[in-house]
Amino acid sequence: MLLSHYLKIYPCEDKPDHFLVFSTKNASKILINKETFQAVEKGTISPADEEILSRLGMIVQDRKAEKQAVLCFFDKINSNNPVLHVFVVLNLDCNFSCRYCYEGDMKGKLYMSDSTAEGLIDFIKDRFTQDKTSLLIDFYGGEPLLSFGLIKSISHDLRSFTESRGASFSSTLVTNGSLFKRKIAEDLVSLGLESVKITLDGPAEIHNMCRPFKSGAGSFDAIINNIKETCDLVKIGIGGNYEKDNHKKFPLLLDYLLEKSLTPDKLFRVKFDPVIRQPETSRYRSGYMGGCLSVNEPWIAEAEAMLREEILRRGYNTLNMAPASCMLEIKDDYVVNFDGMIYKCPGFIGKTDFIAGDIKTGIKDYTDSYKLGIWKNEECADCEYLPLCFGGCRYMTFVRDGNIDKLDCKKSYFEVSLETLVKQDIKYRLKADRH
Ligand code: SF4
Ligand code: SF4
Repeated sequence: MLLSHYLKIYPCEDKPDHFLVFSTKNASKILINKETFQAVEKGTISPADEEILSRLGMIVQDRKAEKQAVLCFFDKINSNNPVLHVFVVLNLDCNFSCRYCYEGDMKGKLYMSDSTAEGLIDFIKDRFTQDKTSLLIDFYGGEPLLSFGLIKSISHDLRSFTESRGASFSSTLVTNGSLFKRKIAEDLVSLGLESVKITLDGPAEIHNMCRPFKSGAGSFDAIINNIKETCDLVKIGIGGNYEKDNHKKFPLLLDYLLEKSLTPDKLFRVKFDPVIRQPETSRYRSGYMGGCLSVNEPWIAEAEAMLREEILRRGYNTLNMAPASCMLEIKDDYVVNFDGMIYKCPGFIGKTDFIAGDIKTGIKDYTDSYKLGIWKNEECADCEYLPLCFGGCRYMTFVRDGNIDKLDCKKSYFEVSLETLVKQDIKYRLKADRH
């Protein structure tokens, strides 16, 4: 057996005679002593160790076959995907006036009409072929709860449809949280709502500056009250968008959540991300010029590691390191805009060059417009980070370059960050990893 191509091997400060080995392909990790590691290299590994390392994807029979399998990662998913996943943008209206809103100039009283919703339902039924067993709808906006009636009617119709096929239906909601009252949560949970993502941009003083109501009033207290009212009904994940000059204050939000009894058992996940700056070349930009243009910006590695540590240290759950699965590459993942136009990533809605079809005429060939498989080149094929990256995020490339002709290479980010992130998981999640 040979060492996998997709390994990162780090020193282990607590146990100098051990290595920390992380598989980027399986997101598995193990502390392994130097003798065992040398035995793998010499081919003298014991059968018991061989079984463990093989199960973790750290040793393989054939490295060429392993690389080929990684290159076919999405082909495998697409050849046998039981899930149809549709991201529905119900409107581009909002009761907030966030200073960095990526919908920028596109925003307005633009709502999905009843007839478009009917077309959407037909489109989904049509794509829900006999091999599908699960339908997942993400309701998105603007502010999706401004289209509450439509969420109910779409959920009702699609749930009956999937049930009649013996399949499952579930939905999620990406909301600013200000309208998510208990009665609304009860109604939506009874219609298949499984989780909600609510954004809090740090403690009250920062959040209220970044995400005020349209009137200019702060929204923080209203959101916290709603989370408290609903967190026993549905899984609530907290997101947050930080910037270079405010990220250090985000731990204060975590302390506040604890103080308000929004403890780790009540929140399903906490994850903070940098604000992405709008492309200067974009016709659609919001005019806000804060945020970052790439995860390779050095301050992001430091900010991400610090915030992730603070989240884990307080016992909250956050995202694991896992193989990247950008929805662009997944055939049965779509974004449907309020007007019925189809895209492959929510970042590109309203950008006409990235229309991938519409609900009436169906999907057109978007291989070139979205540069599918752009990562199938020699450098990426050789890169041990490929399973975590697959060429990075096309939207980030668009933000940076105004087009997606190049890769969003994250190598320098991984070089700086991955060891810290893996060690955080060892420190805080060893118990979870054993399951
Ligand atoms: S391009 Fe980026 S933002 Fe869009 S789906 Fe892929 S990873 Fe997500
Ligand atoms: S884009 Fe960069 S980090 Fe990503 S797989 Fe290619 S070479 Fe590796």
